[in-house]
Amino acid sequence: MGDSLEELDKKYLWHPFTQMKGWMESDEDPLVLDRGEGPYLFDRKGRRYFDGNSSIWTNIHGHAHPKINEAIRLQSEKVSHVSALGFSNEPAIRLAETLAGYFPTGTLDRVFFSDNGSTAIECACKMAVQYRQLAGETERTRFLSFSGAYHGDTVGAASLGGIPTFFERFGGSGYEVDILESIEALEHYENPSRCNAVIIEPLIQGAAGMRKWPEGSLKTLRKWCDDHGALLILDEVMTGFGRTGKLFAHEHEGVIPDFLCLAKGLTGGYLPLAATLTTDRVYEAFLGEYEELKTFFYGHSYCANPLGCAAALASWEIFEREAVLENLPPKIEAFRSALDLWEQEDAAVSEIRSVGLIAGIDIVDPKTGEPLDWRLETGARICREARRFGLLTRPVRDTLTLMPPLCATKQQIVDAVIALRKATVEHFMR
Ligand SMILES: *Cc1c(COP(=O)(O)O)cnc(C)c1O
Repeated sequence: MGDSLEELDKKYLWHPFTQMKGWMESDEDPLVLDRGEGPYLFDRKGRRYFDGNSSIWTNIHGHAHPKINEAIRLQSEKVSHVSALGFSNEPAIRLAETLAGYFPTGTLDRVFFSDNGSTAIECACKMAVQYRQLAGETERTRFLSFSGAYHGDTVGAASLGGIPTFFERFGGSGYEVDILESIEALEHYENPSRCNAVIIEPLIQGAAGMRKWPEGSLKTLRKWCDDHGALLILDEVMTGFGRTGKLFAHEHEGVIPDFLCLAKGLTGGYLPLAATLTTDRVYEAFLGEYEELKTFFYGHSYCANPLGCAAALASWEIFEREAVLENLPPKIEAFRSALDLWEQEDAAVSEIRSVGLIAGIDIVDPKTGEPLDWRLETGARICREARRFGLLTRPVRDTLTLMPPLCATKQQIVDAVIALRKATVEHFMR
């Protein structure tokens, strides 16, 4: 008999954002997930878990949805990948038409496909950099982002991030970035004429621990950008595809960006695919004769992958066919009520922030109300204990997060809140 899968995992795999020493030394076996169905995942022993963070914010309509599975299968029987460098494919063309067609003509009319959230951001930033060069605005070199921001892990995307742990050790490389503390800080920003673009996670910052922006922030930001000739990049990698109650978060404030970055939920959470949408104004600056070298020299092997695009089209269709957005309000209300009750009744909770089906739950010492020592990894421990109550999720330090797939029923959503609450109560009873 060879090693078990669990042993092989500890022997060969290196997991993202994971201290592997603790992982290898843990008495607990890695949880090997084997199968999914709707909002549930199953391990190899057939135990069922609610996917409480939508498999790190990706899943939208549930796992193994017959329509998305079928779309992937049918496309794979034709061809799984062809290059977008000099060639095209039908799912990519149709998906670009669908995405661009969703926005008013004359706004986000062009679609560039890549692989993941980080590359969607890199693509927007590189387009912005080259756009300024082509427009002769060579003084506009600086990007503005916000503290707590997370825009991905590739060097450029990470340099825009406002969470020092993720980037400071790579100090120096990346874009020229000024990190602002708040939207108000824009008023005092010294060099608006040097600003290329502002980048923000609209409505709510994810990796910061689900931090909400004050209402009206996007509108203020759009106006500031217009007043000062800056471009606006919206990172909707987390907030896109219904999470906030609308298809895209920026719709809550009626703001349209110059770049829109989409990834995680684009394929329903089935395959790695990303899209960067932009305006004709940006696009047209790149047009010229070959020898003018205005070309956007950027791309990846798997750009516009037909399987991913087919999955994304199927996911888009499900939004319409299953009236997904129309069915959200009662779910969001039930989610918020269950969270409110928890916030009121549990001394271990200092604050719960939520937008749509996204929530961050701040855990404190229930005896003193003080923040916990982060080295105790309380958030992670609670989430591990929640498995016994049939729930999978992951914290941001001592902020627990919940982000159920949109397909979950009201009852399943409330049950997920209760499971996480039970795990929290039980943790502090020890
Ligand atoms: C996850 C995330 C990214 C990075 O996406 P990857 O697919 O993990 O590279 C960027 N921005 C936001 C807001 C995210 O949540």
